[in-house]
Amino acid sequence: GADDIERARELIARAQRITVLTGAGVSTDSGIPDFRGPQGVWTLNPAAELIWNYENYVADPEVRRTAWQERVEHPMFRAVPGKAHAALVELERSGKLLALLTQNIDGLHQKAGSSSELVAELHGSNHGTVCLSCGTVTPMADALERVRAGDDDPTCERCGGILKATTIMFGEMLDSEVIMRARDAALACDLFLAVGTSLGVHPAAGLVGVAAQVGADVIIVNAEPTPYDDVASVVLRGGIGEVLPEVLRM
Ligand code: NAD
Repeated sequence: GADDIERARELIARAQRITVLTGAGVSTDSGIPDFRGPQGVWTLNPAAELIWNYENYVADPEVRRTAWQERVEHPMFRAVPGKAHAALVELERSGKLLALLTQNIDGLHQKAGSSSELVAELHGSNHGTVCLSCGTVTPMADALERVRAGDDDPTCERCGGILKATTIMFGEMLDSEVIMRARDAALACDLFLAVGTSLGVHPAAGLVGVAAQVGADVIIVNAEPTPYDDVASVVLRGGIGEVLPEVLRM
């Protein structure tokens, strides 16, 4: 309620070093479905997980064709940032934002104007492709153009290897440098703000616990309960597009 919003505003006003963790919930207002919310991709079709599994993707051309077909139609590539993204750009202007850790692969924080030096993409980015043979990275837009032109499993133009998005698939390791940066930001903050994440995926979710353990205040903004609600000073349940701008209005 209004009391909780006021409480959150006070904590933010008092804080000196704020680390933010975002999840799919900051982008649902931009038309990108989340995974585990009521209308989530996994919730509606649990089999979707098989396509975004690294081993299956490498082993099975049919899985790759399905993945490319889904991607070429995905709203992510037409999406524009929403009020939540804008509110986090505002927060950066306060000079108190240590890091903007995101599980999202949509690039909308940078598109909204958040500095790329502050953004750490824990699960990578859907805006690039990498060749699994020679490691060449190219823009996703190029691959999508080839798919639209009829190539149902585009391969590396240099060596013919399998192309994969520069995201972390199930069965893949996270980038250790990015994870260390995220951990450092969780350890160094005095306020940790988790927004739009079900906090069900590790190690990203564990960052909340890390921050809480070193004495940071924790604020959670999410429509549904999370496993970390009991370590939070304030839990806000409303729609992120309304709640976050209110909480962060400086
Ligand atoms: P999640 O789907 O597990 O959880 C999202 C949470 O946000 C849910 O609890 C839901 O109730 C809440 N939510 C959604 N819209 C909301 C709104 N408008 N207001 C308030 N709450 C809202 O997402 P996650 O925790 O980020 O984990 C999912 C994984 O899927 C991540 O690893 C991420 O990489 C990936 N993913 C990314 C995107 C993206 O880039 N936009 C989209 C879907 C999934």
